[in-house]
Amino acid sequence: MRLKSIIIFLLISLACTKSQEVEVLHTSSSNSERLPLVENKKIKNVILLIADGTGIAQISSGQLNLVGPDGYLNLQRMPVTGIVKTQSSNSLITDSAAGATAYSCGLKTDNGMIAFLPDGSFCKTLLELAEEKGMSTGLVATSTITHATPASFAAHVRSRGSQAEIAEQYIESGTEVFLGGGREFFIPQDQEGSSRKDDRNLIEEFENVGYDYVSTVEEMQNSDSDKLLGLFANSGMDSENRTPTLEEMTNTALSKLQSNENGFFLMVEGSQIDWGGHGNDSEYVIREMKDFDNAVKAALEYAEKDGETLVVLTADHETGGMTMMTSSDDAQKLRVEWVTDYHTGVPVALMAYGPHAIEFSGWNDNTDIGIKIAELMNFGEFPLILE
Ligand SMILES: [Zn+2]
Repeated sequence: MRLKSIIIFLLISLACTKSQEVEVLHTSSSNSERLPLVENKKIKNVILLIADGTGIAQISSGQLNLVGPDGYLNLQRMPVTGIVKTQSSNSLITDSAAGATAYSCGLKTDNGMIAFLPDGSFCKTLLELAEEKGMSTGLVATSTITHATPASFAAHVRSRGSQAEIAEQYIESGTEVFLGGGREFFIPQDQEGSSRKDDRNLIEEFENVGYDYVSTVEEMQNSDSDKLLGLFANSGMDSENRTPTLEEMTNTALSKLQSNENGFFLMVEGSQIDWGGHGNDSEYVIREMKDFDNAVKAALEYAEKDGETLVVLTADHETGGMTMMTSSDDAQKLRVEWVTDYHTGVPVALMAYGPHAIEFSGWNDNTDIGIKIAELMNFGEFPLILE
């Protein structure tokens, strides 16, 4: 009897200790050269990179596994670092909707709201202001493209769950490039896999207003249209065999947007680092860190060549309370532990490169990021609340 309860206790505590060993790479040849600070000239383009659910431990364990203790990920080569406080208006722990709204609108809102405020008004986003200035804009994500983070830049709904409505609002948003998953919200209810409750075929509606619709990496890369709707999965994009990769989508978006002489605003999200955190799955987190960091490389290569592009990289919040320990018998072995399957309120890291990157150093509130970008881009009054 006693032995039985000890065994049960051991089994329960084993199940509760969310701990995983992560392999550490000990032969690294990563590019560890830090990018320089550049001349503070006028900014033409902005690339905002959002690593959903990514804290320092996600970045650092990704670094240990992918390029080793002495290596640097591409995002670690960015010359300016800062810290971002992430709380929302109704919680010390934000969700991705309020987190992204702080960036897109420069305002705090309640969890779950997409560029929408608790009193029923909504707020103008950086992407919308860029459109009004005649710039080109794009949204790239590995979740559904209507998920909370991208949605907060080009739609306004009270609840992040209204993804069918978010897809409808995208048609009116003027955004030139949408690349990600989430076909389910664009196809009519009678088509297999649809999550719509009506007969609207938004893919056809997008085509009718001049978008090229693509669903494979080949189609994406062969499209010569400058307005592009790419949906590569019915729901979120596959993590293990991702085609196209976030890097390929980012490069395609950049090639489409760069032709506008007024410049562009591009938001790229590594959506599923967060999902790895929710699953307390370090392998998933690291696979997604790698996909995201390759997209960072693409963004930095573009910005380096261009010289007038500001790149800001941050997260909306940390997920999982991930922390780094070592294995009890080997101090060179990484053991990752988790404290929750939801988000935490720990501040997140920010990295920046390009003209005026230095403005983002130090401690920032999440709303400061949107406000600083709007200011640097001369977007006029911001934050801007609309009835
Ligand atoms: Zn999350």
